[in-house]
Amino acid sequence: MKSGRVIKVSGPLVVASGMENANVYDVVEVSEKKLIGEIIEMRGDKASIQVYEETTGIGPGDEVVSTGYPLSVELGPGLIEQMFDGIQRPLEALKDTTGDFLVKGAEVQKLNREKKWEFKPTVNVGDEVSEGDVIGTVEETPVVLHKIMVPIGVSGKVLKISEGKHTVDEIICVLETENGQKELNMIQKWPVRRGRKVTKKIDPTTPLVTGQRVIDTFFPITKGGTAAIPGPFGSGKTVVQHQLAKWADAQIIVYVGCGERGNEMTDVLMEFPELIDAGTGQSLMKRTVLIANTSNMPVAAREASIYTGITISEYYRDMGYSVAMMADSTSRWAEALREMSGRLEEMPGDEGYPAYLASRVAEFYERAGRVICLGSDKREGALSVIGAVSPPGGDISEPVSQSTLRIVKIFWKLDYDLSYRRHFPAINWIDSYSLYQAKMDKYFNENVDRDFSKNRIRAMTLLQEETGLQEIVRLVGRDSLSESDQLKLEITKSIREDFLQQNAFHDIDTYCSLDKQNKMMKAILKFYDCAIDALQNGVYLSEISRMPIRERIARAKNVSESELVKLDELILDIEREMKELRIGGTINA
Ligand code: ADP
Ligand code: MG
Repeated sequence: MKSGRVIKVSGPLVVASGMENANVYDVVEVSEKKLIGEIIEMRGDKASIQVYEETTGIGPGDEVVSTGYPLSVELGPGLIEQMFDGIQRPLEALKDTTGDFLVKGAEVQKLNREKKWEFKPTVNVGDEVSEGDVIGTVEETPVVLHKIMVPIGVSGKVLKISEGKHTVDEIICVLETENGQKELNMIQKWPVRRGRKVTKKIDPTTPLVTGQRVIDTFFPITKGGTAAIPGPFGSGKTVVQHQLAKWADAQIIVYVGCGERGNEMTDVLMEFPELIDAGTGQSLMKRTVLIANTSNMPVAAREASIYTGITISEYYRDMGYSVAMMADSTSRWAEALREMSGRLEEMPGDEGYPAYLASRVAEFYERAGRVICLGSDKREGALSVIGAVSPPGGDISEPVSQSTLRIVKIFWKLDYDLSYRRHFPAINWIDSYSLYQAKMDKYFNENVDRDFSKNRIRAMTLLQEETGLQEIVRLVGRDSLSESDQLKLEITKSIREDFLQQNAFHDIDTYCSLDKQNKMMKAILKFYDCAIDALQNGVYLSEISRMPIRERIARAKNVSESELVKLDELILDIEREMKELRIGGTINA
């Protein structure tokens, strides 16, 4: 029996002696309450354990038993539509945040053992199968076909396969392997701190369309890409994460609420079931897994929650799906890491974070990517990871932001100033970047409009010029600018207000297809081009600025997806009305 005794309790950290048979990363049960913990350091016979539950009431002398297994999740049907805590215990609706909704101890089953699933085999007796091969499917929800795969490291000949209704722990397949018969049920256990094996990683080439204009047009993310959203409190990190969870064209969404306020997860829980995905006609919860470790829950489980989240994400990627995982916020995860490191009295690095912070952050994001999955059908899967970062005071020179930016390919920088002026999403268009842009340009030009990237570059150049022009206006006033520069400022204002700003809470504006984004951008640039011509032909700028059609450009964002032809008409009308301006004798006015 690998059992020891508690000698010290310090918040979530428990030290036990007599643990010489245990290993680092073993899961242990502490006291007769069987609180779940994980060994994070061994010194001689002393184990330092991070405990994932409240340690009040635990004291010296309490028994500690090692399970001999690393912290693992159960993967199988029943994950979708669930909300779990950081170590995958199902949470009864978070709605009742005042109550003690956490069941203590190790007794809770991670996956529902009662529910029966209709298992449809895709292999026959006599077939040879190996790791990653799909042996059958289960309709997990109306939109998720759950593929039951041969576990990693297993291969053999199918001896028996059982069609029909089964619980997750019933035997559905028997394999003849090199080491004798192997019985398979629908559960795969996997240690959360280890990435799941793939055949190989490949370059991402398609966008993860989010329906958010500033993201898709200016700073696009790919299926398999990684992005960070740093920003101060109230700048809109959570709203961006929620928007992506709602609208990104991923097949599976894993949303990890890590250390932020509990009511944000309640919002998700209340809203998502009501939201209907246009593509499938089903509620968004039918493709979503939620992990909640909010600020009112034990700190150590926060550390585990993002690993639990990414392991579940990898599992669905392995089925050949495009998965998007959001973590809000990775700073709270890093703070949990810092707290444990401090209690272990490790040598602190920058700002008290442990020296291994950067490598932990890197290891986490490296689990994202587009891959060829295990399995002989060589199916493709993708896992995109989007992490919010909440630097204290919004200053991104701090360690968590810095180590994140070194590894992710996309930086959506949220500005306090923009959010203060109620420019939402408050993504700074000068400082943000996407290293996938060149690749995505090709995709957009081929699939949306051959001028897509040309238009984007033009708009961005104008926005960059705006900063300089505004400086001049501040110093010597607007009248000192030439009419063409004044016109430029009107256009950049239009790009900011009519294009970049997008109201997450407006029924139509909340989602904008690539087609609509393209047409909106074209309308603004068409107006600019025609206005330049008009100016050259002697029309006064004041006449151009007063044109009523500008109101229609501003309202373009509220044109519904089924009426995009209105935007084509708008573009034609801009051209026509601008010409009339000339003919109308304004030149002589
Ligand atoms: P953070 O998570 O960075 O603290 P939130 O995401 O909670 O900030 O956003 C704070 C508030 O900003 C929201 O409650 C909302 O009122 C406003 N907001 C943020 N993004 C948008 C948006 N895209 N559209 C409209 N309002 C927004
Ligand atoms: Mg937030």
